[in-house]
Amino acid sequence: MLFEHVRTGGCQSYLVGCGDTCSAAVIDPEASQVDRYLALAARDGLRIHYVVDTHTHADHFSAGRSLAQSLGAPLVMHRASTAPRVDMRVDDGDMLLVGKLKLQVLHTPGHTQDSLCLVAEDRVFTGDTLLIGGTGRTDLPTGDAGALYDSLFGKLLKLDAALKVFPAHDYKGHSHSTIGEEIAGNPRLQVKNRAAFIEMMGNLNLNMPAHITEALRTNLSGGKTVAQMLAEAAAVVPFMSLAQLKERIGHQDADLVVLDVREREAYLNGHIPGAHLLPRGQLELRVNEELPDPTRRIVTCCELGRISTLAAATLRGMGFQRAVALDGGMQSWREAGYPLRQGAEP
Ligand code: FE
Repeated sequence: MLFEHVRTGGCQSYLVGCGDTCSAAVIDPEASQVDRYLALAARDGLRIHYVVDTHTHADHFSAGRSLAQSLGAPLVMHRASTAPRVDMRVDDGDMLLVGKLKLQVLHTPGHTQDSLCLVAEDRVFTGDTLLIGGTGRTDLPTGDAGALYDSLFGKLLKLDAALKVFPAHDYKGHSHSTIGEEIAGNPRLQVKNRAAFIEMMGNLNLNMPAHITEALRTNLSGGKTVAQMLAEAAAVVPFMSLAQLKERIGHQDADLVVLDVREREAYLNGHIPGAHLLPRGQLELRVNEELPDPTRRIVTCCELGRISTLAAATLRGMGFQRAVALDGGMQSWREAGYPLRQGAEP
């Protein structure tokens, strides 16, 4: 079995493959690591046949759908998943064939209703059902402590004690453990019975994960994260440095339009001399009156350099093919001590 372990912060994802047939699957891909999965597969000459999410994540951004789409491979999740863009829904006892490598599906609800584990040869990918020295929490949407107890004690922990455990999260730098080690040492598994387990899980008082709203929104709907939208805009837009723009306005570059996309009040408080005001919210509707010549070179600017990137991408999409975004925002412009003008343009 080919095996690559990709860690990002506390998230762990895996690329598993069959060297004989050059086929592979990715388990729990994370949004910031898409290029890495593709690079690992390319390095070893592997074709990725499946992208598997072990459950609907609430705490980070899954790359499942976008990776599956870019590969033309199915996104695989348990049939209880409510995510709309799952291509292949699997059930307990199903098997995925990755060349000669077999991935056996176990349905292990509890952390979420759609949680699954995958057994492959000498190891089991446990998602958030079983962590090293812990378990997934059961207080987020579709979580159920009783179901987690049943999944653990009725199913997962009955597997071969020598199986290596590879979870979807680890914050302490462990690589893996085994089922036997977890049974012996995992504090959450040292409970008398189901009721004691439910009580323990109910008393954990965990903090809500950061980004939970955005993660659930995007993972449940297949929508985009803010970071994704910014990255997509930045990929289709060139930038101009602050110093370059300062030099050009100093030379009265007549070809250049500086378009300030902040609100009027911020603009009046101090803008780049000569800049036009066109707030982002009015961009599409007013751009034809404000910028009648689509061949002009346009530099968008805003307070922090993010909205201006979205605005430049919008302008490019509308046919302003020389739109660029300022690399940085008015905040950096002021900090650099570059020229400002208060009030309206003369
Ligand atoms: Fe999770």
